[in-house]
Amino acid sequence: MKKKTRRRRCKSCHDLFMPDPRHLKRQKFCTKPECKTDSTMHSQQNWLKKEKNRDYFSGSEHVIRVQQWRKENPGYWKRGKSKKTPALFGHALQDTLLANTSDGKGF
Ligand SMILES: [Zn+2]
Repeated sequence: MKKKTRRRRCKSCHDLFMPDPRHLKRQKFCTKPECKTDSTMHSQQNWLKKEKNRDYFSGSEHVIRVQQWRKENPGYWKRGKSKKTPALFGHALQDTLLANTSDGKGF
């Protein structure tokens, strides 16, 4: 018996194609150049979506809260060097913790 490779329908041109066995699960586009372009765009969009979601859930909300808190407590951040790193991701989350803990104890 011959091994049967399931054919797939390309998400872009809707033609049937034989997916590369190594990428069986991931390949949703055939090997036509225009579909490859589509595939690249598709995965990039997916990636962007994921990034956005991640930002949305674990980032911006906290960042905004921290930024607001910073506005209300400007003196706090003048201690030490004011770092304006683009990677305030980890910082922001830490800051949130700080903000939360110092919030209830009154200023
Ligand atoms: Zn195609």
